[in-house]
Amino acid sequence: MKHLPLFRPLALLLPALLPTLLITACQPADTPTAATDPSGLYGRSAPSAQTLSAQQQVLQQLPFSDTRDFDDARRGLIAAPDALNISGQNGNSVWNMPQYDFVQGDAPASVNPSLWRQAQLNNIHGLFEVTPGIYQLRGFDLANMTLIRGQSGWIVVDPLTAKETARVAFDFALQHLSARYPGEQRISAIVFTHSHIDHFGGTLGLLSQQDIQQQNIPVIAPVGFMEEATSENMLAGTAMSRRAVYMYGKNLRRDAFGHVDGGLGKGPAFGEFSITSPTQLVGTTGESLTVDGIEFVFQFTPESEAPAEFTFYLPQFRAFCGGEIVSRNMHNLYTLRGAKVRDALKWSAYIEEARLMFADADIYFGTHHWPMWGQDNVQTFLKQQRDVYKYLHDQTVRYMNQGMTPGAIAEAVQLPDSLAQVFSNRGYYGTVKHNVRAVYQHYLGWYDANPAHLDPLPDTQRAAGYVRLAGGEDALLSVAQREYEQGNYRWAAELLNHLVFANAERTDARELLASTYDQLGYQAESGPWRNVYLSAALELREGTPATGINIATMKDVLEQTPPENFFTTLAVRLKAEDAAGKNTRVQIVFSDLNKRYLLWLENSVLHHQEVEKPVASDATLTLTHPLFIRLLIGEAGLKDTLFSDDLNVDGSRLDLVRFFALFEKPVTSFPIVLPQ
Ligand SMILES: [Zn+2]
Repeated sequence: MKHLPLFRPLALLLPALLPTLLITACQPADTPTAATDPSGLYGRSAPSAQTLSAQQQVLQQLPFSDTRDFDDARRGLIAAPDALNISGQNGNSVWNMPQYDFVQGDAPASVNPSLWRQAQLNNIHGLFEVTPGIYQLRGFDLANMTLIRGQSGWIVVDPLTAKETARVAFDFALQHLSARYPGEQRISAIVFTHSHIDHFGGTLGLLSQQDIQQQNIPVIAPVGFMEEATSENMLAGTAMSRRAVYMYGKNLRRDAFGHVDGGLGKGPAFGEFSITSPTQLVGTTGESLTVDGIEFVFQFTPESEAPAEFTFYLPQFRAFCGGEIVSRNMHNLYTLRGAKVRDALKWSAYIEEARLMFADADIYFGTHHWPMWGQDNVQTFLKQQRDVYKYLHDQTVRYMNQGMTPGAIAEAVQLPDSLAQVFSNRGYYGTVKHNVRAVYQHYLGWYDANPAHLDPLPDTQRAAGYVRLAGGEDALLSVAQREYEQGNYRWAAELLNHLVFANAERTDARELLASTYDQLGYQAESGPWRNVYLSAALELREGTPATGINIATMKDVLEQTPPENFFTTLAVRLKAEDAAGKNTRVQIVFSDLNKRYLLWLENSVLHHQEVEKPVASDATLTLTHPLFIRLLIGEAGLKDTLFSDDLNVDGSRLDLVRFFALFEKPVTSFPIVLPQ
């Protein structure tokens, strides 16, 4: 019975790990239940005259009459589902395309026309023939699933985010390809282009771990795939997943004043995630593999778009799969959910390398967005993608070396027309402004060398100072109101943010700031920028939500996660103030893995180390790895496990309990646009 309190703190480990994957996995907002508002606004502000005029300018600036993207996005359509609405086992909504049916016709004043165009393109979904033998399922999830016809079955490239969407997509393909390939349902290989979950999470929706092993199905991935897939962003995951709610607009209504698109695709799918270990790793550029009779030539492209990634070329089809290092938008050198910045120079160099290596490619297909046909088109596209990242890099460094600060550089850098007039370079996902800051950060870090920014007062104290300076809250609000009315939204946001941080109870200030963010969101060309602004507005009006994470969706992935990762995560939850002077030593033994770990405290720091043999410690906890996972996700109750032989405590139970009490419960939600 004394086991009980042990696992409560242990279970708290989990939410830290989850967001790794939840980052790309936010549940779309459910259909609103509130009384319907005939205006459709639901408390949000209508687009202002200034916003309307900004949208009209966009219409003048970009070549909207060029509709080749729409031709490419529709080309080769074999079948489109009537109403693609995918639910999970518990009836939860995993993927819902009909909710975007409103994205058609001319752009409403509340959406940047360029983003609206991208949203229309991302609405086009179904099963497509890229070329006979290569098929794509697009719009069944954030990413694409590509099927390549091998000698004995289907080579599946990137099986989506969720088991549910992967299953539905693959079944849909089988159904509509059965006339061409009667009776052929077998999966002959799996290829993961990179370590982001929207490219592997659905794997076990297609086939079981047992199938993979028994049928010897090759699983091909870039070197580092498994390590990165189960650890990327784990330590900072709680903060990232909260911030991802903003970036992906998780809680926004799907309508013209809310979520319309994510830029890279509609948005993340929320379902059950899974992973399987690769059987073959590729870590060399130029390496060639014959997979089920099809020749693949790989290009290894780590540490650019993803930490572990490759692209590949299929000589017999003259088709180049660009992984995610190229896409039909400007990608992120920095992602707003928060992540380490990416290396623009390396990224650009990979694109050029691919262009030269696979120069005879007639077809490009990606893991997001729609393909492209024609050797010249592909070459031009690759040059433009290469140069968009190199331009941002070079010009940022140029200005940086003139002493300009990130904000100033973000204002100064603009793409030349030869890049800016090309839709696939537009900032639907990344933006010039935030990518430029990423390049600065990559070289010089957070400090802009201005000592006034070295140790400024914290936000709430500064806010109070600005309110005093303005002559009080009312005075500040009236200045902000004037700025708002003149359409100076960036300045109004700064003023009002100070007011809200000085006094979060002022609903008039919160509402005006929310309206300001509405306008900034309506004008944004980037899906994430729009989502960030509109999510901010939502939370100013409705407060900070309490987010819940269903950790059971992660079971398959957790089982493949190395135990060390859990302990590293535990260390960043240590309440250092309580651990001062403590030197507890605890062993955790996974009886089935034959692995033993020593965890110990020293200098208010938690360390862990795998040990061969029992060592001196205050207590030892022995259990199986699956039980560990089941306890963590709450699938195994303690009552069941108390009497099971799978778990044993040796030494001082009290010390164990005290030890786990030193770790803090992770917060699943925190204020962002309101003071803490
Ligand atoms: Zn992706």
